Amino acid sequence: MCPKLTTGKCRRNSEELERRDQSVSTAKKAPQRQCIGCGEMKNKRDLIRILKGADDSITIDATGRKNGRGAYLCPSMECFKRAVKGKGLERSFKTAIPKEVYENLEKEMERLGRQE
Ligand SMILES: [Zn+2]
Repeated sequence: MCPKLTTGKCRRNSEELERRDQSVSTAKKAPQRQCIGCGEMKNKRDLIRILKGADDSITIDATGRKNGRGAYLCPSMECFKRAVKGKGLERSFKTAIPKEVYENLEKEMERLGRQE
């Protein structure tokens, strides 16, 4: 049973938990980042990178290779919503986030969620 997530995401969540257990022993190799939604430290690879570019545009950086200031978020709407509520992005980027940016990010999150 998975108390928090719907059945579709349940399986992936247990995989994440397994991976996190592994990353404890390989902590030095795997860079950890904090999710701005739930505040948990996770393997960088398992998080979505949100990027603030030089032109102050805020996008999801799927490649993780673009330059700019990044914030990290679990690939779940749950964490996204918590980040919005808790102003995690504002705090990470030290700037006000326009409503349209959140709307775009939400669409992106939904799209990423559907790919699984
Ligand atoms: Zn999270």
